[in-house]
Amino acid sequence: MTPGGGGSSRAASLLLAGALALLVHAQPSPASSAQPADSVTLALVGGQVIDGYGESPIEDGVVLISGNRIARVGSEAEVEVPEGTRVVSTEGMTVMPGLFDMHVHLQILGHGDYERWNELYGDRLAEDVMPVAARQLLAAGVTSARDLGAPPEDILEVRRRIRSGDVPGPRLFVAGAFLQDAPYEPWQSDYRWGVDGPEDARSKVRRLVEAGVDVIKLIDQDRMEEPEVEAVVDAAHDAGLPVVAHAHRVEEILVGLEHGVDNFEHTGLGTAPGYPERVMRELRERNLDLYWTPTVSPLYVMRYTGSRFPERLDDPGWRRFMPDSMAREIRASLEHIPRLPYYADFPARIPTLPDKFDQLRDAGVKMMIGTDAGIPSMFHIDATWREMERWQRLGVDPMRIIQAATLVPARFLGVQDRLGTLAPGKLADVIAVRGDPLRDMRAMRDVEVVVKDGRRVH
Ligand SMILES: [Zn+2]
Repeated sequence: MTPGGGGSSRAASLLLAGALALLVHAQPSPASSAQPADSVTLALVGGQVIDGYGESPIEDGVVLISGNRIARVGSEAEVEVPEGTRVVSTEGMTVMPGLFDMHVHLQILGHGDYERWNELYGDRLAEDVMPVAARQLLAAGVTSARDLGAPPEDILEVRRRIRSGDVPGPRLFVAGAFLQDAPYEPWQSDYRWGVDGPEDARSKVRRLVEAGVDVIKLIDQDRMEEPEVEAVVDAAHDAGLPVVAHAHRVEEILVGLEHGVDNFEHTGLGTAPGYPERVMRELRERNLDLYWTPTVSPLYVMRYTGSRFPERLDDPGWRRFMPDSMAREIRASLEHIPRLPYYADFPARIPTLPDKFDQLRDAGVKMMIGTDAGIPSMFHIDATWREMERWQRLGVDPMRIIQAATLVPARFLGVQDRLGTLAPGKLADVIAVRGDPLRDMRAMRDVEVVVKDGRRVH
């Protein structure tokens, strides 16, 4: 994306994507476009295919992969599978682009006490913690994830190791450290950077840019001096990076909007019943180029785990890829979820969420799936489908939910030419889930096949 760019260019790219989708769908099966047999390396055959463009799914679909790219997408009647191709049957499944989770934290794994976690694991995040989160995300069908807060060196090291193939995991897009007024606690200073004046703000953005981050994360902007906020956003945009900000308070949203934040996180506003009209007015004005990751599921998941179904904590699922000692430590920390300070206002906030969620939809902002995976009881292995399922319960059409986890994030990150849809030439990040998520999003739990960069990884 072009940070701070006008809405019209985004609207144009949306139209273009729509036109391309039509072209792809209109394509019959001209023999001339068939791939030579030896270039097709993998075929997913038989399932219903959702290509991500929002059209009706393809029944009895075929996805042909050549190396790390998608070669063909169509029905079994249209697309011939070259003899000798390695075939993965997707009968009974739904095939779709690999998911994006736009709000994760690889440095924590659901533990209930951040300070204790930091004492135990703070010096081995890149070695022992982040790879667990990365492998869990991949097994959940998340082939691209945006990490919105971690010590920059650790998360960049893990991104390198995933890219080089040393660690299995999603493609990572990372923020590194939060930029804020000041760290809340001294022990957080390696991932929460305080900003002291506009010059310091610019130099901290530059440090992150030079280290290689993909987005800048700004929080508590209503507690900073306005010239500092302006400096953060301008320095990020000058470097071609978008700015992602918290939306916990009315003033935090308004200051962010005033200075050109590109994407807000969380629904925010605590127990307030909704966004006031002065916020809604601004949102409607910005809707074409404003993205929002509402992260609604954590509140529901924590309440569910804390009081309705603590048995969830005995499920071996969330312990996957984790040493026993680590799993025991996390389990013990979640023994009494309702007593966690983090949880205090959740029960009062939950009834306000559906209305706020509706307001965001009405305002027309571009909503993306993100989960805050890593925070207490939000495990990377099941966070993403829980967020998707919650959106369905909140009334969103399943096809739109899938696009909010594929095409929309790819556009935000400026990678829509490579990722987020299934079409010839795109990178082959493809998943298959058992059943039909267009009927029931709980199908997203059962990820049977994960192909990343053309290779089957799950
Ligand atoms: Zn977060």
